[in-house]
Amino acid sequence: MITTKLNIDDKLPLTCSRAGACCFGNLVLINPWELVCLAREKKITPRAFRDLYCEYGGIRLRFNGKAGWKGKQACSQYLDDLGCSVYSARPLACRLYPLGRQIQNEVVQYIYQGDKFPCLEGCPEVAKLPYLSVGEYLIGQMTGQFEKAQDAYLEMMQSIADIAFMLILDTGLAGSGDKKTLPLWRKMGSELPEVLANRIGNEWIDRLILPEISDELEDPVSFVQKHNDLLQSKAQEQFEALQTDKELHEASVLMMGVALHLARSIGTDPKILSEHWIGIAKEHGAIE
Ligand code: SF4
Ligand code: SF4
Repeated sequence: MITTKLNIDDKLPLTCSRAGACCFGNLVLINPWELVCLAREKKITPRAFRDLYCEYGGIRLRFNGKAGWKGKQACSQYLDDLGCSVYSARPLACRLYPLGRQIQNEVVQYIYQGDKFPCLEGCPEVAKLPYLSVGEYLIGQMTGQFEKAQDAYLEMMQSIADIAFMLILDTGLAGSGDKKTLPLWRKMGSELPEVLANRIGNEWIDRLILPEISDELEDPVSFVQKHNDLLQSKAQEQFEALQTDKELHEASVLMMGVALHLARSIGTDPKILSEHWIGIAKEHGAIE
């Protein structure tokens, strides 16, 4: 798909008309910290929020509300006459929209999808409202903490993948001639999110999506650090006594699945990522 790259000073029709077109039939992915923020706003537990309003184990908001714009269903958080019911805790995807954010080689690039400004389709009146620069828009949407959470989860994704690497490369599994692990890494990169969530299973999905952290909500970087520590210590506990190649293979596949599921929740393409990681594993002696 074509993307239009933006500079921070580019001026665009970024004053939202609040007609709400983007709250219908859209795709809103959330990371675990955002899920906790949304649950707090809704005054329910993260588990209840996940079960009531999310899909794929908690990485995507459900769009099962009343049909509206172009007959598409509303976000589960959208209320007639009121709009977004979780506005002050809305996730980064909603704060950024119609913009998107990509990171390549640690450089952030703001974009929008297509070559035509997205709001013009559903809310053409924006063309008559004041233009804002990309930088002004981001400040107004208070994206700062949410961008930090996204970046911290990107690092956590890599550290979970590192466990999968360790289980295949440092345990003798690759050296034993294993040819089953990398094909499964590849398969998971292309799996539908619900299939991957099922493969991972409830225990690890809950560790990934519902970390038991009761503080640190105001500081997303500390929250994600704690989340990563919890996950790493569970992996250590569960995998330190593994002995057979079969056990090591299954553990490596599981950890890669968790990393790819987290990758999807932060908008990274699991297929591209799995191919990238397979290439690195092969450079270090793994075969398929
Ligand atoms: S489509 Fe654009 S202008 Fe319309 S409600 Fe969404 S952000 Fe606002
Ligand atoms: S969370 Fe709020 S802003 Fe985002 S899509 Fe749902 S209703 Fe719209």
